[in-house]
Amino acid sequence: TTEDRLRPFNRSRVYMSDLESTLHYSLRVELAAHPVIKGEALSTLQRYISVLAKYFPGRPVVNNLLKSVDMWLKGEKDTELSYTSLRDALDNTAEVPNASLPEGVRWVACQGSKPHFRRYPCGMWTLFHVLTVQAEEAAGKDPQEVLQAMRSYIHSFFRCRACATHFENMAQESMSHVGTLSSAVLWLWSHHNHVNNRLAGALSEDPHFPKIQWPSPELCPSCHGVKNGEHTWNQAELLTFLRSHFSSEHLLSDYLE
Ligand code: FAD
Repeated sequence: TTEDRLRPFNRSRVYMSDLESTLHYSLRVELAAHPVIKGEALSTLQRYISVLAKYFPGRPVVNNLLKSVDMWLKGEKDTELSYTSLRDALDNTAEVPNASLPEGVRWVACQGSKPHFRRYPCGMWTLFHVLTVQAEEAAGKDPQEVLQAMRSYIHSFFRCRACATHFENMAQESMSHVGTLSSAVLWLWSHHNHVNNRLAGALSEDPHFPKIQWPSPELCPSCHGVKNGEHTWNQAELLTFLRSHFSSEHLLSDYLE
């Protein structure tokens, strides 16, 4: 069966390999479609890299690379940037010691049963859930910081334009009301579930990974409740679950190079 070709993995865990693959794809493939980055796209890139440099819970060599790219971008006074110069910074052509972002992708929990399923979009959601949880853990100062970085990245660069439009509509409706770091974690969780709901049964759904209202009762029994015969989410339990599920201590490092 197709599933036999999947790498063995634990469906209830988050893998660093997916996060690094997402960074590789975003920074070396998706952004490469923009030979010149300026104006709004440039400030979007700066915010994205800044959030990654602050909160990405990576291996030291990857964190060093993100910090060096962030410092380089912050020091750049030009109003436009060529993708080639960004690529040089990502490939560490300046040879900053012990700093690199691995080349290529190795999808694990974001594998699809066919090449057109899951992968990078799955990685993007996972990355931003991790970042909202990290920002809360690090007691970041601005509850909007990670969400707005995601919003503008998706708006400026995410290749699926229909996805970007949908996400921007949701963001316009309610993102600015988020006033605490824990509500940022919950905002992303609940809006991801809106998307799951909209996409359940769609052609883009991998039959091996059906879209559900996540987490399932198996994954987090205490997150679910019933009130007057209706399903309810227990927000306090959910927050505890999300903090643990996406925490840096629980990231698995299998399949890393
Ligand atoms: P994904 O939805 O990608 O989720 C990845 C993993 O996150 C899941 O396997 C699960 O472990 C976990 N997860 C699931 N739900 C939640 C949740 N609520 N909170 C926290 N973790 C969760 N595709 C379209 O066809 N149309 C669109 O309009 C569209 N819009 C998108 C907008 C954005 C911003 C992004 C990043 C992606 C969008 N996509 C869209 C892609 C789509 O949402 C899925 O990413 C893709 O179909 C792959 O699905 P998946 O099964 O890997 O699960």
